[in-house]
Amino acid sequence: MKKEEIMADYHEMWKDLGMDLETHDQLCEVLPQAFGDVYLSQENRPEGMDYFNFVVAEIHGVRPAELIEHQKKGGKVFGTFCVYVPDEIVFAADAIATGLCGGSQFWVPGGEKVLPTNTCPLIKASVGARLDRTCPFFRIADMYVGETTCDGKKKAWEILSEDVPVHVMNLPQMKRGKDIAAWAEEIAEFKDKVEEFTGNTVTADKLAAGIQLINTKRKALQRLYDLRKNERLPVSGCDALLISQIAFYDDPARFAEMTNKLCDELDERVKNGVSVVKDGTKRIMLTGTPLAIPNWKLHNIVETSGGAVVCEEMCTGTRYFEHLVDESRTTVEEQIQALAERYMNINCACFTPNEGRIDDILRLAREYKVDGIIDVNLKFCSLYDTEGYFVERAMKEAGIPVLGIETDYTDSDAQQLRTRVSAFIEMLNNA
Ligand code: SF4
Ligand code: SF4
Repeated sequence: MKKEEIMADYHEMWKDLGMDLETHDQLCEVLPQAFGDVYLSQENRPEGMDYFNFVVAEIHGVRPAELIEHQKKGGKVFGTFCVYVPDEIVFAADAIATGLCGGSQFWVPGGEKVLPTNTCPLIKASVGARLDRTCPFFRIADMYVGETTCDGKKKAWEILSEDVPVHVMNLPQMKRGKDIAAWAEEIAEFKDKVEEFTGNTVTADKLAAGIQLINTKRKALQRLYDLRKNERLPVSGCDALLISQIAFYDDPARFAEMTNKLCDELDERVKNGVSVVKDGTKRIMLTGTPLAIPNWKLHNIVETSGGAVVCEEMCTGTRYFEHLVDESRTTVEEQIQALAERYMNINCACFTPNEGRIDDILRLAREYKVDGIIDVNLKFCSLYDTEGYFVERAMKEAGIPVLGIETDYTDSDAQQLRTRVSAFIEMLNNA
């Protein structure tokens, strides 16, 4: 299908969502170009990537249409912004959860109309996408679910709540027993809210199904990432990142099925020694702030500068899928406890102390046979920026070369980043 046809198909739907069609058309113009430049130019891509290419080509069409269909049948859609929000509860209430984090510079100026300029681009883009009415997902979500992670987000919820219902989950920022208990209480309150909003009851059976559904998605992602541990890399970092990003908004069961299908193909590649890069290519792990869709900037730079990204210790990466929720609990109360335990295993820089994250990075560096680490910080994220001190010190002590980078969604620093990344890879090649 040609781009113009896709646009024609969905214009009515976008109009009904109250979108700013003129501005949105500009986004529809630039996205295929950006995707083509980064993705379709890669060589030797697995055939199983066709599905994910299709999802991106139709990003503002197919999935939004499915969500609207669900709403027409009386279902609700919840928009989320953080990997601590338990999707299991939402699906157990016959509702749908969809990630809403904005990863494009296109939305940033809209956010800057109401937020200080020195707010991280992820928050600015997310607020801009809603207020400028240029993203169908932000229009469709009946309720937003925020969390008390960083200061910028906390205040952004207050601004967004003037425009859309927002439920904020109070995330503890330490991991003592009483914090895990408090998070379980918060999840129970979220369940009550979701039940009230949807009119559906979350029973133990339904919650068990929700837990299983999201665990299935996690297992598929773990399988994909495990394949990246091979010496001969069956899939590029760019493609793996795209899959991680799509995981946030695609139908979970279909996503798991398509990811597993791709992994079957990658298993064959591993058996046959097929690699997307030449032997000896330096293996890079990215750590730090999330890379929301369509932020492909750093992966593209690394992989067109002679390196290969083999792992992301990020929320668009291992923090999203590592650790399963215990499926053996049988009452709603026990299941909520299991959810609290699993989610509190995530190591985000909003926690203090957060030594678990350093342990994770060291472990992942070994598992993925990493040659060097790039510690990525989204501009104005003081949490990850400050924690970079410990990350970089620990890597130096472990003898793992590390490059610290701060960037945003603009292309203005691309050339400078390319120079620094190339020099880093060159240094690894000569080590
Ligand atoms: S970096 Fe922290 S606040 Fe942001 S999505 Fe991840 S867990 Fe949530
Ligand atoms: S990147 Fe940092 S500042 Fe931005 S939303 Fe995440 S935690 Fe907050």
